[in-house]
Amino acid sequence: TWAPPPARAGGPGVPGDLAGAAALRTLAEAGVPTVEERVVGDPAELAALVRDWGSVVIKADHPRMLHKSDLGAVAVDVTDPEAAVGQARRIAALLPPGDPAGRVIAQRFVSRATAEVLVGVVRDPQVGLTLTVAPGGTLAELFGPARSHPLPVGRAAVERLLDAEPLASLLAGYRGAPPGDRVALVDAVLAFAGLLTRDGAGVAAAEVNPLLVLAAGEGVVAVDARLIAD
Ligand code: ADP
Ligand code: MG
Repeated sequence: TWAPPPARAGGPGVPGDLAGAAALRTLAEAGVPTVEERVVGDPAELAALVRDWGSVVIKADHPRMLHKSDLGAVAVDVTDPEAAVGQARRIAALLPPGDPAGRVIAQRFVSRATAEVLVGVVRDPQVGLTLTVAPGGTLAELFGPARSHPLPVGRAAVERLLDAEPLASLLAGYRGAPPGDRVALVDAVLAFAGLLTRDGAGVAAAEVNPLLVLAAGEGVVAVDARLIAD
């Protein structure tokens, strides 16, 4: 079983390091569109949710659990109610026993993503907080360092980050995919950057990975995130 690393104290806005649902909630409050999700409890409720949503993602959720896929703790595109209940049981067993911070959650499966994007802010010792936007999901580590910009940022600076390759090609519609919703992506990046720039937010670094970019006009959806307290 996965064991959580020790908790750290945080600032007024972020109570320590956060990952998964707790991080997504903070981002939603800052105006970043986030996926619909529910804590999985009763099997009958989960089955009803699968019928309602058509397809779900079942995930382990803990404020300090990163890299859930590597632990086998993410099941995507589950359309069968009984299979979902089975996945929820399997994933529950990967959580530390008796830790109330550990949960299993069901998210709406976002099926029409054109691109998976990573939006991150890190603290550079020279320039302070810097923003990057890059291909995300499993591709995140493949391309080397992405273009970055110090905070605060405006719309034009974010547009320039999106114009860097290979992100630009991905957003233009890679391999027959429709072009991604750049307007919604810029809005989401600005909302995310705004949270980090806000006084007293207590965030030292943060990452959305992935932000799912839908086709133009259809928006973007954050499905996983982490926040690192100052
Ligand atoms: P982790 O990064 O901890 O392994 P994620 O929550 O990022 O876990 O999920 C891993 C991958 O599963 C994502 O990169 C994405 O491809 C897919 N995924 C996760 N949640 C959803 C969702 N709600 N809809 C569609 N795909 C998803
Ligand atoms: Mg992730």
